[in-house]
Amino acid sequence: MAASDLINLSGLIDDAKCFALVRQHRWPEGACCPVCGSSAVIRDGHDDTQPCRQRYRCKTCSGRFDDLTGTVLAGHHQPLRVWVLCLYFMGLNLSNRQIALELGLDSSDTQAMTEQLRRGLAAKTPAVELTGEVEIDEVYVVAGHKGQPAAVAKRGGSDAVASWQARRAAARWRRTSRPSSA
Ligand SMILES: [Zn+2]
Repeated sequence: MAASDLINLSGLIDDAKCFALVRQHRWPEGACCPVCGSSAVIRDGHDDTQPCRQRYRCKTCSGRFDDLTGTVLAGHHQPLRVWVLCLYFMGLNLSNRQIALELGLDSSDTQAMTEQLRRGLAAKTPAVELTGEVEIDEVYVVAGHKGQPAAVAKRGGSDAVASWQARRAAARWRRTSRPSSA
């Protein structure tokens, strides 16, 4: 084995654990069908080229899918462990250039990967249909604490919680949608 293989981080990562990680995040309550949402699914062997990638069959709609179907991780030439490491480095605030160097990737490939990961893992989420009573709350985002962790910790104290609740109550509004056909 060449020395370069030993310092190639992605070569040290366990594929089975990467797929287990995806399953755990995607389906904490067990696999369900990405087409019809049914949880009546059975395991249906493994991918031909990726032995840790579990395949499933839906007993409700007979659809077939696997661990990565419908996610940005599917259909790309990079193995899952490279995506997992990319996500890990993004969490450490590494630049695209640094990530590309660590993973031995092209910088344009790395940029495409980080952009997709920032948009979320779901590649194709079905259109949301709202029915009945719909309630929308304001979204509350805490800004990054780069250089100012003390200020953020202070803002997140009990005073902030109390005023957040007041703002939430003020911002809450309800809308009842009535189907036009009714
Ligand atoms: Zn189904």
